[in-house]
Formats: sequence, C-alpha cells, structure tokens
Amino acid sequence: MASREYVFRVFRFDPEKDQKPHFSTYALKLEESQSVLGALMEIQDRLDPSLSFRYSCRGAVCGSCGMAVNGSLVLACRTLLFSLQTGVITVEPLPNLEIQRDLVVDMEPFWKAYQSIQPWLHTQGPLPEREYTVSERDRSRIDQFVNCILCACCYGACPVLGRDPDYLGPAALAKLYRFVGDVRDQRDKAILEEVDNPQGVWGCDTVFRCIDACPKEVRPTDGISALRRGLVTRALGRKL
Ligand code: SF4
Repeated sequence: MASREYVFRVFRFDPEKDQKPHFSTYALKLEESQSVLGALMEIQDRLDPSLSFRYSCRGAVCGSCGMAVNGSLVLACRTLLFSLQTGVITVEPLPNLEIQRDLVVDMEPFWKAYQSIQPWLHTQGPLPEREYTVSERDRSRIDQFVNCILCACCYGACPVLGRDPDYLGPAALAKLYRFVGDVRDQRDKAILEEVDNPQGVWGCDTVFRCIDACPKEVRPTDGISALRRGLVTRALGRKL
C-alpha cells in the first residue's frame, strides 16, 4: 500500500503543567496501511516524546487504546489510516471519563461500575466432577457479551453518562446479563433489584450509540433489554 502525507491534530492536556486543553499538530508521511496507534507511536518516537496515550496488546484484545478518531470512538490499534479516507486526522480522548493526560483517561468509574455487578460466576453446592456443560443454545444467549473486551468505547459514547455519571453504563449492564443469563450462574437473582432504577437498566435512552461504538460487535442494549424483561418477569411473580 502507498504512503502519503498525514496531518494529525492530537488533543493535549497536562494538568501537572497547569496547561489549558489544546491540540498539537503533527505532519508526517506514513503507509496508508498503518494504524492510528502505529501513527501515534511514530509521533511519540520521532516528533514528540511527551505525547501520552495508553495501549498494550496492539491486536484488539486488551481494550486499552479506545479513543475518538475523527469523532468516532474506536480502538486505535485496529483503525487503519486508509479507512479514514482523509489526510487530516483528529485524535481525542474517550468522552465521559476524566482526562489524566493527553489521550489517557481515568478508567476508575468504568471499573467501579463493572465491579459492582460482581462479574464472576457465582456457584453453589458441590462442583461437578469434571466440568460444567453448557449447551450451544444456552451459550448463544450470552455469546456476544462474553466477547466484550471492556474497552469503554460504549461508555464514552453513552449520552446518559454525559448527564448522569452515576449511571452504570452499557458495558457493566451487558456484563451483568452475561453472568445472570449464564446457566452456570447460581447467584441470588435479587441482584437484579440493584439495577432496577434510573442508574441501572431504566436509565438507558435506547439510542443505540453503544452498539455503533462497539469494536467487538457487542450490542449492550440487547443485554439491557433482557435485564428489563427479567425484572418485569420477576415483578409478575415468575423467576428469571
Ligand atoms: Fe468495549 Fe463493546 Fe465491551 Fe463496550 S460492549 S466495553 S464497546 S467491547
């Protein structure tokens, strides 16, 4: 693939230097097959070692490099320059999370919401002699939510979090369904009552921005709708 000149406008902010948020502009020639993450690494190596951003696996597995590229929330490692169809690329941090420095945001509220749904299988009684078996049908119910890599792109895209930081957010709610919808999970389903409020499942605006933003084709709104159905079913006296 060919090379071309690119101009990157990168969001900068260093609270320790008492800086005002601003954009730095970098021009460089890169292969069109390069990823946005690769471009940021080139900028850091060749032009500005002070630029801060977070990454780890470089293969769309760890979920560390979520950011806004030309207004879309994406994983920088899997966003290739030619796919942007422009030579001017604006890179900004994920919205709805406090900026620590440049493109690095404080993920604490995201992890706190995730932790609150107790994201592990709750088992009771003796363990099976070998392993738990799950039918294909049962697994297919939760499959997409298992694929979530906790990148927080949906969290950044969610308009509810923009106005209510106490809302649990699409990823945590979808992961709650991933566990309570798992046939191996034997937790007390009363945990559903903890999300039976506007900071839980009823807060969702159902505008599907989380679905648009998700790089792993997870549909968090499906999980939220399933939890809502579960709550209604419980209220009618039947168990989820
Ligand atoms: Fe990321 Fe998608 Fe999981 Fe949200 S649901 S955290 S966008 S992988």
